[in-house]
Amino acid sequence: MILVVGGAGYIGSHTVKELLSKEYEVVVLDNLSTGHRDSVDERAVFVEGNLGDADVLDALFTTYTIEAVMHFAAFSLVGESVQEPAKYYHNNVSGTLTLLQKMNEHGVKNFIFSSTAAAYGIPESIPITENTVTAPINPYGRSKLMVEQMLEDFYQAYGLKYVVLRYFNAAGAYSDGQIGEDHFPESHLIPIVLQHLLGQREHISIFGTDYNTPDGTCIRDYIHVTDLADAHILSLASLLNGDNTNVTYNLGNGRGYSVREIIEMCENVTCRKATIVESERRPGDPDELVASSEKIQKELGWTPQFELKQIISSAWTWHQNHPAGYKVIN
Ligand code: UDP
Repeated sequence: MILVVGGAGYIGSHTVKELLSKEYEVVVLDNLSTGHRDSVDERAVFVEGNLGDADVLDALFTTYTIEAVMHFAAFSLVGESVQEPAKYYHNNVSGTLTLLQKMNEHGVKNFIFSSTAAAYGIPESIPITENTVTAPINPYGRSKLMVEQMLEDFYQAYGLKYVVLRYFNAAGAYSDGQIGEDHFPESHLIPIVLQHLLGQREHISIFGTDYNTPDGTCIRDYIHVTDLADAHILSLASLLNGDNTNVTYNLGNGRGYSVREIIEMCENVTCRKATIVESERRPGDPDELVASSEKIQKELGWTPQFELKQIISSAWTWHQNHPAGYKVIN
């Protein structure tokens, strides 16, 4: 069985569906602090609890035969991490340490970790490879990098095998239209633009138009959540069949789009016109983050299947059919 910690979150719930479609058995652990019970496929076992709760973990590892753990349960808002670093280090670092200790005690040796492009901070060059210097510029990025460092130490000392996946900008929704992105408050660009085009927000703010990019707005690499989920399945297989022991991969499409280009593509896909307000920069945003994912393509044969237009169309289908996200409107 595969334990998916944070399996009720955005990327976790999509990965659970992919695991089930590949015949893996899944148990989800999630405290529902940001996740949604309804996003978890009913074929998975669901346990409500904290990743740092040693008793819950003991019970899980005793009840089920867990072959591998995928860990998605983290707080991930950069601005909040600057305001409340304790929350980030407590959950993302200390909680994960308890999880790793319990895995070690119970002899569970395979771990897949959701990391982030924020581990690179302001990169020296683009595209970003796994060898680009890691120099995070906020507590969120540091909390992820600290876990990456713990993983290598656990590998050396205890033989814990791991794959670290550094995501760029996850977006899009599952093809069956049943699950998608639902954060509160929403801070990500694509859902914000689509909510505006649905009439749920008055305008879109562009955070900064004076960046060192061709149109002055930040450039990011958007990757479909199903492509991320598939990378997890390939990573899992590579651990279980012994091809990988301790490795880090970037996950992006390798192509960057500016904030203005994203808004234009959303207008294109939805055939609606956006109202834009040019605003101040948001603190901590690098000019450009674009991944090289050649390493995972070469080593595991992963190829992203979805381009920007398909990413946005799938998200649009989700938002149109679930205007209040997972909330049921009476
Ligand atoms: N952004 C924006 N307006 C918004 C939300 C985001 O201009 O309402 C910009 C943000 O400053 C960044 C890009 O869109 O340059 C992507 O932001 P997002 O929060 O989606 O992802 P991040 O890159 O921070 O992980």
